Amino acid sequence: MAEIRVERLHKDFNGFVAVQNSNFVIEDRSFFVMLGPSGCGKTTTLRMIAGLELPTDGRILLDGKDVTFKRASERDIAFVFQLFALYPHMNVRRNIAFPLVSMGMKRAEVRAKVEEAARILRITELLDRPVSGLSGGDRQRVALGRAIVRRPKAFMMDEPLGALDSELRDVMCGELRGLHDRLKATTVYVTHDQTEAMALGDRIAVMSHGVIEQLGTPREIYDRPTSVFVADFIGSPPMNLLTFNDSLEAGRSSVRVGQAEISIPAPREAMAARELILGVRPEHVRLNDGARLRGEVFGTEYLGTTQIVTVTTAHGMVKARLASSLKVSIGDRVGLEFRPDRISLFDAGSGRAIRTALDDQAQALERAHV
Ligand code: ATP
Repeated sequence: MAEIRVERLHKDFNGFVAVQNSNFVIEDRSFFVMLGPSGCGKTTTLRMIAGLELPTDGRILLDGKDVTFKRASERDIAFVFQLFALYPHMNVRRNIAFPLVSMGMKRAEVRAKVEEAARILRITELLDRPVSGLSGGDRQRVALGRAIVRRPKAFMMDEPLGALDSELRDVMCGELRGLHDRLKATTVYVTHDQTEAMALGDRIAVMSHGVIEQLGTPREIYDRPTSVFVADFIGSPPMNLLTFNDSLEAGRSSVRVGQAEISIPAPREAMAARELILGVRPEHVRLNDGARLRGEVFGTEYLGTTQIVTVTTAHGMVKARLASSLKVSIGDRVGLEFRPDRISLFDAGSGRAIRTALDDQAQALERAHV
């Protein structure tokens, strides 16, 4: 098992910065997810941790030992990729056994370890089948078997479920988390899919343009995004973002958005008048005829127990997740009310969150919870 420490990690491809001054610690036995849009540097970071790519600068420590310039084979790390790189001419048993056979392990020991891995993955009945006829999910289980069979220090997984259809992806997501809970091996997992990241990760690093925008538990990232990028990237639909101009005094309990005075969590610092952004998730928006922030219903999307109602306002579009029993029609004039303790504030210039008293409380609670 392993703690992975990344210090000032930097990767430059002929002048193009793919990873910029990255610093984080992946705790032993934890499931760490790197999440972000295509090209943000997730795979490059993973490949540097694994020893498949040399950093331009910075260090990587595995259990306190500097492995920055060590070869992949010397790091005791196993991979699972999106494309199930199985040997098509071998059956399932021989595919899983391959890393052990390559190490020169005795036949009886190989057999025992392969059968144990197959039991964990519930593919014992497939052991003597050729891999060519297997379904996508089973092929991925075999690839996982090959990774877990030698009980490495850590697993690196690069979009391992990316090639599966969405239904199977949900099933495999649950299986992967279950597998991690049983094996407790440090896992670094790359994905661009936020649902996967939220379901799997103990902690998530949200990346953009080679930089970690926010590192936190799924709850921290969802409830308290530290930047407009994270607020907009996480959540489906994402956080509503309303732009307005105001000044902030430390401890103030409301902001003026057009005609409306909206209650907010008290900001930690004062700010001269500037462009600000108010963020609120759709589930924390209510319709209220008496509210001063008004708009017109632009669309409704029926989702079974809930519906997403889109309202246009002078400050931007607002999506509300409401009970589907509520009667709302396109063209209705409505008032909007936000749950004050679930509001985030951002400085529009920097895109960074303005800290509030609630951030400190939420963080303390989250730490106690973990
Ligand atoms: P994706 O999900 O699309 O793989 P990613 O977040 O994993 O995206 P990376 O593969 O790490 O992103 O790539 C980060 C950036 O570095 C991209 O713009 C990519 O084009 C660039 N890059 C990656 N590898 C190389 C390379 N060998 N040479 C030049 N540029 C590269």
